[in-house]
Amino acid sequence: MRRPLASLLFAALACACPGADLPSILNNGIDYVGLEEGSARLGLRLERSIPQTTVMLKDGAQPVARLIDHSRDADLKGLRVFLGDPVIERGGKFYISRTDYEFRIVPRLRPDLAGPPPRQPHVIAIDPGHGGTDDGTENRTHHSMEKTYTLDVAERLKKLLQAAGYAVVMTRETDVDVPKQIRSEIANQANADLLVSIHFNSLYPNTKTTGVEILLFPPRTQRSANSWSPGEKNDAQATDAPVNAYNAWNSVLAGTLHRRVLDALKTGDRGEKFEHLGVLRGLKCPGVLVESAFLSSDSEAERLALPPYRDAIAAAMLAGIQDYAEVIRRLRPAPISAPGPAAGTSPGAAPAPATHSPPTRPSAGP
Ligand SMILES: [Zn+2]
Repeated sequence: MRRPLASLLFAALACACPGADLPSILNNGIDYVGLEEGSARLGLRLERSIPQTTVMLKDGAQPVARLIDHSRDADLKGLRVFLGDPVIERGGKFYISRTDYEFRIVPRLRPDLAGPPPRQPHVIAIDPGHGGTDDGTENRTHHSMEKTYTLDVAERLKKLLQAAGYAVVMTRETDVDVPKQIRSEIANQANADLLVSIHFNSLYPNTKTTGVEILLFPPRTQRSANSWSPGEKNDAQATDAPVNAYNAWNSVLAGTLHRRVLDALKTGDRGEKFEHLGVLRGLKCPGVLVESAFLSSDSEAERLALPPYRDAIAAAMLAGIQDYAEVIRRLRPAPISAPGPAAGTSPGAAPAPATHSPPTRPSAGP
């Protein structure tokens, strides 16, 4: 992240984020903060393991993160997470980009320090990927189409969410084309509190790869995962998209969905990756895209053909949304009754007021 001195001073004064006044260095124009100081700020201890290029962050004796020098491949509480910039070592000290510190490390390890949380979720937007003339990917052995399964799982998830007291808006309910930006607009118009986009993966001609992958919209100045491949250009964007207002909470939502889907399906962890996704860009609430399985794998396509497997995916997504809601609930305790209309605080209550004004937050404890 490029930051002139004036903006750094402003950030230190105006930002409640715990990294604002950490010692920093510039690396290739990116602002990096000291990992040791950054960990201490979160009440964590940094421990180098052998080989020296790996560091663990520990909460007491419990490892909560593993980071590797010159790598974006990290482990946060047992989940594989690709950072937006590689960790670096300078003069025997480890540094992490300020963007990764503020939007990946802090929200996942200390969400109470991640700034004002968004609204408690009441209205959930479900986006069944593809549809109409856009089939998505297709399993070439079984001829099963992605667009069919995304809608099927979305309908299962909708029933589960409604039974749990949430209001649901679907970006499509039939086999129709819906442009990506219209999908985020449908969520915004419904005043959705979060969006989950449902897709299934493909790596043809590779038919062996299986597992769960979670996609998030990259923060400004960070690249999509694909753009790190040899020969690809840096595709970082210079300005914020609307969904970037929720960088920290996109990460929290990605983590809760990632853990539940992975635990339920017991497949490989392909990690959380950045991609400039049209369906997420315009969102005025947190949102992530979940790829629960590979349709290019015959074994995963065969499992996906079984309704109980699709039920398991939907149930895991419900649990991930509920886990996210619980994180927000802990950070936004129920308001003390005051004169005038008050927002509901349980999923069954009336939706929050129809505004997207910046959330305010009482001084929340951990
Ligand atoms: Zn897809």
